[in-house]
Amino acid sequence: MSNLGPREELAAIAASLRAYLEWQVDCGSSGIPRRPREARAVAPAANPALRAVAAPPERVITANDDPPAAPPPASAAATVPSSIEREPEPPSSLRASPPPGGLPPITVAENAAPSPEAARALRAGPQPAGPAIVPPRPLPVIASEVATCTKCALAATRTNTVFSRGNPEAKICFIGEAPGADEDAQGIPFVGRAGQLLDKMIQAMGLDPAKDVYVCNIIKCRPPGNRRPEPDEVATCIPYLHEQIAQIDPKVIVALGNTAVAALLGTKLGITKVRGSWKLYRGKIPVMPTYHPSYLLRPSAQQAEAKRQAWEDLQAVMKELGLSRPARA
Ligand code: URA
Repeated sequence: MSNLGPREELAAIAASLRAYLEWQVDCGSSGIPRRPREARAVAPAANPALRAVAAPPERVITANDDPPAAPPPASAAATVPSSIEREPEPPSSLRASPPPGGLPPITVAENAAPSPEAARALRAGPQPAGPAIVPPRPLPVIASEVATCTKCALAATRTNTVFSRGNPEAKICFIGEAPGADEDAQGIPFVGRAGQLLDKMIQAMGLDPAKDVYVCNIIKCRPPGNRRPEPDEVATCIPYLHEQIAQIDPKVIVALGNTAVAALLGTKLGITKVRGSWKLYRGKIPVMPTYHPSYLLRPSAQQAEAKRQAWEDLQAVMKELGLSRPARA
């Protein structure tokens, strides 16, 4: 040990390091060799998406490397080429300890920024294992398959399949139960009495039923006698709706009545319990459950209160979308 003070000792180390590096350059070295990956003490992340970020490809520092840049402003971060971004320092407990008798390796990440996919997966958290996500087909393709569908017994009794009405670009998607007699006759959802009330509700929101919303049902064929769809009919038909929703990608879904709520959210809770509180469809699209217009049309002691509640639910949707309440509701 020398008798130098800490400052002098640091200066001596710096001088010998400089001399070492100059010697390396003189010998034609273009970089500092890194330890192999296995030697790194950074713990692997449990989430594979995290792993992609925590263990980026590594490379050798070359003479052309820029010094570590100050972090870019948040707005510019997305445009900074990933190759010049530096791996963030791991927590001290995870840092590699210096090899005996040598300097710690310098690690530089080639691609420290997570890919957009990895970033999305990170935000979403661990994903359940499941089938690969297939991109939705264009709506006319789905509609023409529906038009000739014979996957369940309802095909034998229907007049028309009933796919949708409204604007596929709309931010709001209203989803009902199943076509009734009028819808079956015309091949268009919500054209009967319930549909007329639905249109009034949409207009009360200050929206145009033809331009501002998309309307469809859980199942595409009329159950005889307007009975509730059977669970197997829902199970057979709902893949069409999932694909339809994936194409529409609405900002908000309004689920009308028990069948829609149960099929979209997988809950057995009745509409009176769930209405008025936001839920999520497939973990990403906000759903507002509310009463089906047919229920609101049915005279009952609760009718006035149910209508008031339904209007409250639609106002919550307007608020979510930043829509202002029309002068006359
Ligand atoms: N009820 C529904 O649920 N859907 C329609 O299309 C018509 C009535």
